[in-house]
Amino acid sequence: MERLSILGATGSIGTSTLDVVSQHPDRYSVYAVTANTNVEKLAGIADAFNAKVAVVADKKLYGSLKEALKAGGCDAKAEAGADCIVGVAEDSHADTVVGAIVGAAGIRSSFAAAKAGKKLLLANKESVVCGGKVLMDLVRNSNALLLPVDSEHNAIFQCLRGATPLMKEKARIILTASGGPFLHRESLEDVTPEEATHHPNWSMGKKITVDSSTMMNKGLEVIEARWLFDVPQDRIEVIIHPQSIIHSMVEFEDNVVMAQLGSPDMRNTVAYCLAYPERINAGVAPLNFAKVRQLTFEEPNLKKFPLLALAYEALDRGGYACIRLNAANELAVEAFLAGKIKYTDIFKICEPMMLSAPSENPKKLEEIIEADEEARILATEFISGFIGE
Ligand code: NDP
Repeated sequence: MERLSILGATGSIGTSTLDVVSQHPDRYSVYAVTANTNVEKLAGIADAFNAKVAVVADKKLYGSLKEALKAGGCDAKAEAGADCIVGVAEDSHADTVVGAIVGAAGIRSSFAAAKAGKKLLLANKESVVCGGKVLMDLVRNSNALLLPVDSEHNAIFQCLRGATPLMKEKARIILTASGGPFLHRESLEDVTPEEATHHPNWSMGKKITVDSSTMMNKGLEVIEARWLFDVPQDRIEVIIHPQSIIHSMVEFEDNVVMAQLGSPDMRNTVAYCLAYPERINAGVAPLNFAKVRQLTFEEPNLKKFPLLALAYEALDRGGYACIRLNAANELAVEAFLAGKIKYTDIFKICEPMMLSAPSENPKKLEEIIEADEEARILATEFISGFIGE
C-alpha cells in the first residue's frame, strides 16, 4: 500500500488524483491532504479518504477546519499554515507526495519533498520554472524520484523511456499546444475573464486556463522542459495542435519521432505517475480514432502570443528572469481575473519585469524564495500603475 500526501487536494489536479486513487483502494491510501482556504471541501476529502492529517494554508482558518472535520465525524488531525504544508511534504508517514498547489506557493513544499527523497508527482510547474537547476540537483542528490504530471512533460518522459544518454543528448523536444480559446480570434484587446477561463479541450484551474489562453502556459512549459530533461532551449520547439491528442513528442537523431497520444484528461498522467513503472487504468475512455478523424498542426503566432517568446528570452537571460516572469504573470493574471487590468496588459506587465531581472542564477532555495517575494513587491507596484490608468 503506497501512502500519499496530496498538496492542493481541493484543486483540479487534486481532484483527478483522488479520482484515480478511489479506483485503486488496494494500491493507494491517503495520509495527508492540503488546501489554501477551502476548508469544507478539504474536510470532505479527508473524511472520504480517511486521511490522517488535513492542512489549510491560511492560519486564520484553523478553527473552521477543526469544526468542519468534527462536523463530518472525521478524526483527521487539523493543521494550519504554510509551514505545516512543508511539514507534510517531508513527513515520513507518506511515501509519495503529489505537488498540486497552484503558483509559487508550491515551491517550498516541492523542495521539501525532494529533499526528503520522496517519490514526487509534480504538477506545480512553478517549482521547476523558478527552482530550475537548483531543484533538479536536489532531486538527484537526495535520490528523490520526480515524475512530471504536466501532460506534455509526462508525454516526453514516456517517449524518452528506454533512450540511452547519447540518444537523449541529441534529442529534440516538440511540445504540443492546443492554442487555447483565442487561436483564431483577431483581436485580444477586449478578452474578458469569463472568455479566458474556458478552455476548448482541458478542464483545469482558473490560473492555468488563463495562462493557456495567453500561451504563457506553453512558455512556462518550455522552461520546465529545459530543466526536467536537461535540454537547451534551442532544442525545444512548440507546435500548435488544436485537438490536444498528441501530448508532446521527441525527435531523435535519425529524425524518427516518438509521440504520446491519449484523451485530454489529467487522470491519465496522474495514473501513469502513480503506478510508474507499471501502468494502471485511470478510468479514462479509450481514444476513438475514427471520431478524432484528424490531427492538425500549425506554427505558433509569436506576435499574437508574445508571452511565449518572452519565456524563451527569460531562459536565455538566466534564473532570476524566469522567477520574475513567473511572479509578474501570476499577479497580472490575478489582477485580470479581478477585472482590474486588461487582458493585453498581462504581457505589458511581464515584459519589463522580466527584462529588469538580475542576470545571475540563484544557488539555493532561500535565494529563489527571496527573489520571488521581491518580484511580487515590484509587480504589485507596477500593476497598481496600470489599475490607475
Ligand atoms: P487549482 O486552482 O484547481 O487548485 C489549486 C490548489 O492549490 C487548490 O487545492 C488550492 O486550495 C491550493 N492552493 C492555492 N493557493 C495556495 C496557497 N497559497 N497555499 C497552499 N495551497 C494553495 O489548480 P490546478 O489543479 O489547475 O493546478 C495546480 C498546479 O498544477 C498548477 O501549478 C498548474 O500549473 C499545474 N497543472 C495543472 C494542470 C491541470 O490540468 N489543472 C495541468 C498541468 C499542470 P483552495 O482550493 O483552498 O484554493
